[in-house]
Amino acid sequence: MKEKTQSAAKTRSEKEREKTRKALRQKKIRVVLAVLFVYLLVMIAAAVIIDDRHIEITLLGPEEDIAEVGETYVDLGAEAYFVGNLFGKSVNPLEIKTESGVDVDVIGDYTVKYTAEGFGKKAESYRRVLVRDTKPPVITLNHEEGYLASWLVGYTEEGFSATDNYDGDLTAKVVRTEVDDTVYYSVADSSGNETAVERKIEYGVSEPQIRLEGGEEITVGAAFTFTDPGFEAVDKSGNDLTSYVKVTGEVIPYELGTYTLDYYIMNEQGETASARRIVNVVPQPRVETVIPNRKTIYLTFDDGPGPYTAQLLDVLARYGAKATFFVTGNGQYYDRDYTDMIGRAFREGHSIGVHTLTHDYAAVYASRDAFFRDFNAMEDIIYEQTGQYTRLFRFPGGSSNTVSRNYCSGIMSSLVNYMTNMGYVYFDWNVDSGDALGGAKNSYTVSNNVAEGCLENTVNVVLQHDTKDFSVAAVESILRWGRNNGYVFEALDESSYGAHHGTNN
Ligand code: ZN
Repeated sequence: MKEKTQSAAKTRSEKEREKTRKALRQKKIRVVLAVLFVYLLVMIAAAVIIDDRHIEITLLGPEEDIAEVGETYVDLGAEAYFVGNLFGKSVNPLEIKTESGVDVDVIGDYTVKYTAEGFGKKAESYRRVLVRDTKPPVITLNHEEGYLASWLVGYTEEGFSATDNYDGDLTAKVVRTEVDDTVYYSVADSSGNETAVERKIEYGVSEPQIRLEGGEEITVGAAFTFTDPGFEAVDKSGNDLTSYVKVTGEVIPYELGTYTLDYYIMNEQGETASARRIVNVVPQPRVETVIPNRKTIYLTFDDGPGPYTAQLLDVLARYGAKATFFVTGNGQYYDRDYTDMIGRAFREGHSIGVHTLTHDYAAVYASRDAFFRDFNAMEDIIYEQTGQYTRLFRFPGGSSNTVSRNYCSGIMSSLVNYMTNMGYVYFDWNVDSGDALGGAKNSYTVSNNVAEGCLENTVNVVLQHDTKDFSVAAVESILRWGRNNGYVFEALDESSYGAHHGTNN
């Protein structure tokens, strides 16, 4: 029954209790949910903290890269992902922003910066790029095919150049050294890269040949001068070394004898190439003396030309007579210059001989060389006048003069030898007209002396001076007398009788 009561009561109170319980249950659920929620939050927070999610950038390639200056630099790039401790790496890479300051044309240290961002996160990474010149310069050697170093002067540099990828032309900085048969070239660029090359010197095979024109032994006639017939020196490389040839030894061209001339070249190594020539100086060939088979008079006129020479040439021409003029340079010291009479006399068929330029005893007989100088100066004038040199001459004062003793002892006999060896033919005289100083004073005496002095069966060489008017004036009567007596008047030549006196000094 109690239960019934209870049941009735229950109906009401139970409803209330039910209500209360229900509320209580709901409260419990709310608490549990709240706790669960908090727990969840704590767990999420813990997960986030433990996961430590962030962006990570990984460089592709080295962190420090070397780039060759002047060449293209290819950056390998980088990758970026979100990464965390719990959930690992994100599937998709993040976009990367690259900032590169690399200038490949300028040596230096550069940085490439990589940036990635997302979800409020951001990361940066860097790569160092070192732009460097690591390539050495290049040395180029010029070479002409077939070029051989000269025996004489050694190797002549054929040329070279050096260039560097960064520094450009480095030719001026090349260090060149030559040791024995090798040339060494080296150069370094501004980055210290070094290059060294070398070249082997190829030499010509051996020393040059000195070839003597005319041969190793020559024979020449005595003369005032000796002219070497010539020579040439060529080395195996074909270089003409003739101008480097030195000649030692001497030929005294007017002194008979045997001489040695040495030709040689010495190179920088002290090696020599040489040749030797023997020179024999012998007398010039003599022209045989021919005695004419007719009664002959050789009129000779010394010391001119002068004011009377033209008149003399006129009279000789009129008689068709030839004569010989032993001339001096004194023709130029009169009222006018009579030197042109030499040319006229020559053209009119007369012989021209040297009587020396100055006819000054003190000058011409001072020495052998003084005589030679004076003689040749007159030869030059004769050449100008006649177009040829003469072989004929007469010593001032004749070969028998004693005046030369005052200037040089023994000079006459020595000059006779020298001049004869050189092929000159000297003439004295065997008929003296007496027109010289202290002798005849008029034409009559002169012509008389000549007429009396000339002999029928000898060769007559008459001494006169065309510098004396009375002597020139005597010529016509001499010519007439000679013609009337069957003489011919001829000009001397190299085969003529010399009428030598013999020397006295
Ligand atoms: Zn004279």
